[in-house]
Amino acid sequence: MTGNLDHAGATLHVDLDAIVANWKLIGAASAPAKAAAVVKANAYGLGAAEVAQALEAARCQDFFVAHLGEALTLAGTLSPRSTLYVLNGLVPGAEAACAAAGIVPVLNSRDQLERWGAYAKSQRRKLPAVLQVDTGMSRFGLTDDDVALLIADRDQLGSLDLRYIISHLACADTPGDATVARQRRKFEQIASAFPSIPRGLDNSAGALIEGAPHYDLVRPGIALYGGAAHANVANRVRPVVRLEAAITQLRTISRGAGVGYGLSFTATRETVLAIVPVGYADGWPRCLGNRGAVYVGGVRAPIVGRVSMDSMTVDVTYVPRTLCGAGAIVELIGPHQTIDDVARDADTISYEILTRLGSRYARVYHSARGAPSTGGDL
Ligand SMILES: *Cc1c(COP(=O)(O)O)cnc(C)c1O
Repeated sequence: MTGNLDHAGATLHVDLDAIVANWKLIGAASAPAKAAAVVKANAYGLGAAEVAQALEAARCQDFFVAHLGEALTLAGTLSPRSTLYVLNGLVPGAEAACAAAGIVPVLNSRDQLERWGAYAKSQRRKLPAVLQVDTGMSRFGLTDDDVALLIADRDQLGSLDLRYIISHLACADTPGDATVARQRRKFEQIASAFPSIPRGLDNSAGALIEGAPHYDLVRPGIALYGGAAHANVANRVRPVVRLEAAITQLRTISRGAGVGYGLSFTATRETVLAIVPVGYADGWPRCLGNRGAVYVGGVRAPIVGRVSMDSMTVDVTYVPRTLCGAGAIVELIGPHQTIDDVARDADTISYEILTRLGSRYARVYHSARGAPSTGGDL
């Protein structure tokens, strides 16, 4: 496979079978809870339709996105048996569109609860919903006061078909963090006031904590896509993404020559440079200038100088010449460099590396279920 597929600067390979295997691993780790899939932000940049369809074929039926618009886009590509949930809640005025498409809002405030309930009454039918409560993250979900009012006036729930009561963990990526147990206790205490409603708390990191209760539904995202769920613990999921580019040209510079904008790198010896056609407009972090690396023929090639918009320059002096010429493949993400490695070099998290991958790469989806396919205009 060349990096010039579709004449793009680079090619993003997505292993759909690995996503399915990771989903099954998480399901097994959190059984008897059911495993959903979080496919917000275009499945963390990898293609929500492709990912959701592969998971559907493996019998995943519950898909979480952030916005109603994401759910509406996905709805047409999924089986009617699947359910789409909108994590960010119900925006005022969105009730009719949400109900008409059969999408389930996560109700995150009293106002959302009241509006969805009122809309259901006006339609003379019960509408599905997920109820989120805040157990300590101070982001989405009913506050303690909201919960107390709701318990005092349960009639509000009469027009709703509550599928789950959920909350979200703030620190599950740090094994042993005391706040995780505190959030679990608080979640269980609130949920016990609604005993007939199934429960869900865990993201990837929560779902992979051994020996913890995982309730009825887990909501993994990053671990499906190969990211390490826990800091400083061996990653148990399979890598999903390979990002490859082809070297555009080589040049040899002498000692003392500067490289790139601002001449932020100066050669201290004769140096062979390769120009790689990937830059910050492709989502490759600009802060990796003089910090990160790529791999050529399995050899580490440090990024020298600043990352430009559409290209970067790497030092290939120590790469055997036979492996390194114009057109040779460069690994940006792959067997030598995981998304977590890139994230560490860029001082961020794998989530940000993936979601910023952008739309410029040629995309190839790999699955044993079918021949590799390129993803249209995604
Ligand atoms: C994004 C998100 C998830 C998935 O989190 P990961 O850490 O990627 O597994 C689960 N639940 C909620 C509420 C989210 O916002």
